[in-house]
Amino acid sequence: MWKWYDSEIVDIKEQSPTTRLIKIKVLGEEPISFKAGQFVTMDLPISDKRLKRWRSYSIANAPNTEGWRELEFSIVKSENSLGGSKFLCEEATIGLPIRFKGPDGTFTLRQPIAEKDVVFICTGTGVAPFRSMIWDIYNQNIPHRHIHLIFGARYEHDILFREEFEFFEKNLTGFKYDVALSREPSWAGHKGYVHGVYTEGYKNVRSDIDFYLCGWSNMIDDAVAKLIVDLGYDKSQVHYELYG
Ligand SMILES: Cc1cc2nc3c(=O)[nH]c(=O)nc-3n(C[C@H](O)[C@H](O)[C@H](O)COP(=O)(O)OP(=O)(O)OC[C@H]3O[C@@H](n4cnc5c(N)ncnc54)[C@H](O)[C@@H]3O)c2cc1C
Repeated sequence: MWKWYDSEIVDIKEQSPTTRLIKIKVLGEEPISFKAGQFVTMDLPISDKRLKRWRSYSIANAPNTEGWRELEFSIVKSENSLGGSKFLCEEATIGLPIRFKGPDGTFTLRQPIAEKDVVFICTGTGVAPFRSMIWDIYNQNIPHRHIHLIFGARYEHDILFREEFEFFEKNLTGFKYDVALSREPSWAGHKGYVHGVYTEGYKNVRSDIDFYLCGWSNMIDDAVAKLIVDLGYDKSQVHYELYG
């Protein structure tokens, strides 16, 4: 059940040329408990009208860790921002109070996850809920099968949490990490969009696999169509969180 919380920004990192990693600390007596994959909605000082101030952000860190009062968010510096992204990426500073409601959302891993392989497909800050889920699996040693993270961005400097996912490649059984870059000519990995990676790797349809997609509609719309219409996966196997 969601509720309103008061918090303040305790850390800001320029995570990449196009994203900021913001950490907030929940104030007051009651900590926040959430499930990996959920989001919160911040009430940002960007409008006089209450509903125009609300922007949602996926929690990027895992639940049930020592930092249970701290939440991290990876925020993209949106070129066309009229509000939220501009405020958080250009104006917000350490110590700033943030009021938010949450946790919210049903974009969480279907249980028990050990029954199916999971494929995470995302671009940019859409990786946030998957970072939370993967750390949760690692921290709590949750039984699982294969976990394949397919991350897309334009340039190598846009790869988010790269060191962490390279750590999981070595230390989390069954974890596979692919990065597709659309504008980096010298990239030795996949060139182009994320779609080429899963349409090739999962072209033989199986019922023991679930796909999780996260990001903006340009990527999600294409991925849903490719998985369900082109490849023939059942829609119950495709789960997504749409950022806008
Ligand atoms: C459940 C949920 C979770 C979200 N989690 C995150 C998150 O973890 N990190 C994050 O950065 N954002 C996330 N968002 C998006 C976020 O809520 C804002 O929409 C975003 O910060 C842009 O807000 P704005 O006020 O700057 O832009 P607005 O002025 O409100 O947006 C202008 C227009 O541009 C579109 N737009 C904005 N940014 C992009 C983009 N990068 N690509 C394509 N279209 C875009 C918007 O949909 C809108 O149509 C999430 C959204 C939802 C619904």
